[in-house]
Amino acid sequence: MTSLDFMKSLQFAAQKHSKQRRKDPDSTPYVNHLINVGTILVDTGIRDEAVLMAAVLHDVVEDTDTTFADLEGMFGTDVSSLVRELTDDKSLPKEERKRLQIENAPRATRRAKLIKLADKLDNLRDLQIITPRGWTEERREEYFVWAKEVVDNLRGTNAKLEAQLDEIFAERNLL
Ligand code: NDP
Ligand code: ZN
Repeated sequence: MTSLDFMKSLQFAAQKHSKQRRKDPDSTPYVNHLINVGTILVDTGIRDEAVLMAAVLHDVVEDTDTTFADLEGMFGTDVSSLVRELTDDKSLPKEERKRLQIENAPRATRRAKLIKLADKLDNLRDLQIITPRGWTEERREEYFVWAKEVVDNLRGTNAKLEAQLDEIFAERNLL
């Protein structure tokens, strides 16, 4: 049964990301990605409520004016610290952030790793369908290669998620 706490996290994320769009040519509402990541985890059998809440909140600090203190006040320390594990330091250059995602992946908690895997799976599924606005084909291929390096450092977390990711990597001849 879906909890009120979970619905409140989704409501909060939908409000905060309401003006944002994904990078696909249709400019899909950003919240679709958050719903997809949560759905991937539930479909995998995950019922840990804090994990599902952190999944829908995973970009809210990185991409909106929300602070970790806001999250802690509304959703508690467990959810807030999971989101902290999923938040890149935006003061760093993009190249450095991408390198740190690879480097820091093994140190994440198992629950954060689940969300990272689901996040990558949804992004790669989007990229399989269509190239983002303004991206070259080469940039799309580079994203698959980078995502695989992150995923390789998250392995041993969930066989079902990793098998779905591996199907995508196999299609790109990256396995
Ligand atoms: P990213 O490469 O980080 O963009 C991908 C991110 O955008 C995803 O991780 C996802 O993040 C989000 N996203 C939104 N819509 C989609 C979608 N439809 N499909 C997949 N992902 C989507 O882009 P940045 O603009 O942050 O650029 C950073 C890096 O890109 C640079 O470090 C550089 O290496 C590289 N770059 C390469 C170029 C090239 O031509 N090769 C040119 C310019 C930059 P989330 O889950 O957070 O939503
Ligand atoms: Zn994401």
